[in-house]
Amino acid sequence: MAHVMELPNIVIIGRGLIDKVVEVALTASGGQPILIVTGKTSYSMYGRSVSEAMSEKASIEVHQVEADASQEVEVIRKILSKNKFGAIVGIGGGKVIDISKASAHEAGIRLVSVPTVASHDGIASPMVSMVDSGQPYSRMASMPFAVVADVEVIEKAPHRYLASGCGDLVAKYTAVKDWKLSHKITGEYFGDYSASLAYMSAEIIFRNARKIGKRKEDSIRTVVEALISAGVAMGIAGSSRPCSGSEHLISHALGRLMEDPPLHGERCGVATVLMALLHRAAWRRVKSALSSIGAPSDLSGLGVDEQTFVKAVTMAPEIRPDRYTILHKIRPTESDVRRMIREAELS
Ligand SMILES: [Zn+2]
Repeated sequence: MAHVMELPNIVIIGRGLIDKVVEVALTASGGQPILIVTGKTSYSMYGRSVSEAMSEKASIEVHQVEADASQEVEVIRKILSKNKFGAIVGIGGGKVIDISKASAHEAGIRLVSVPTVASHDGIASPMVSMVDSGQPYSRMASMPFAVVADVEVIEKAPHRYLASGCGDLVAKYTAVKDWKLSHKITGEYFGDYSASLAYMSAEIIFRNARKIGKRKEDSIRTVVEALISAGVAMGIAGSSRPCSGSEHLISHALGRLMEDPPLHGERCGVATVLMALLHRAAWRRVKSALSSIGAPSDLSGLGVDEQTFVKAVTMAPEIRPDRYTILHKIRPTESDVRRMIREAELS
């Protein structure tokens, strides 16, 4: 079977990039109308300025996301059927980017991803997670044609989002270990290059944790670059494998068990501490990086009670039985998990 790698054509990271967003959108659309998909906050922070600048050079329509993801995809499908759009420009957080990505993929048109927060690695990945459409985990869509990350807007978002992005990045530490383990035990394909790239994006966060915690110069850019690298690692692997292992299964399980769960990356970060312990790897390094960054590094910081967390860990392997991880190998019981929680100083 042929191995297909999808990469973004254009990646721009910098400050004051409104003109660049317009320029890239015009290239992506090939002169046809452009649909801007944005959220309420992201519209007032950035989307409005972008659409004003873009409307001078192209025919545009702006859609503000209000409902849940599957309903929104339905609404956008109708908008796209009425006019011949050349591209979608998604301006916003995780949900907006996911909806835009799913819609562009379905319509077979290009997506320009314009993240306004650095909270997870979907900004430059070919994966979509549509939690409310009955999909238990992320599925394959297309890689964005372009990613334009304006640090000037990303740095205005509350620190919690950036910290969550770091949680999603330290998760690559155990995700890669899980992938290697599966390769050894099940014979699953293992891509050394994409695994190294994903691993590196976790390593960068470990090394820069203090600077990120203090929001020192360039640290926001470092996180954004690492998130894009992680997304590219998925594009090279052709799946989310290098970036999503047992820690992501726990995060997904928490998402199912809780009505109002913490952010994706926050859940992933704490789960990574526990999974690093299970792998007999450097869990303290993960934990101390999270706490230096100002991300949750234990259960109370995460706002999850022990019983719920224990349940999430034990049900995690069933979330995705086909994705072999350390949890599928060891299958810890509830009392094992409680013991691990003590050992990893999570409560
Ligand atoms: Zn993730």
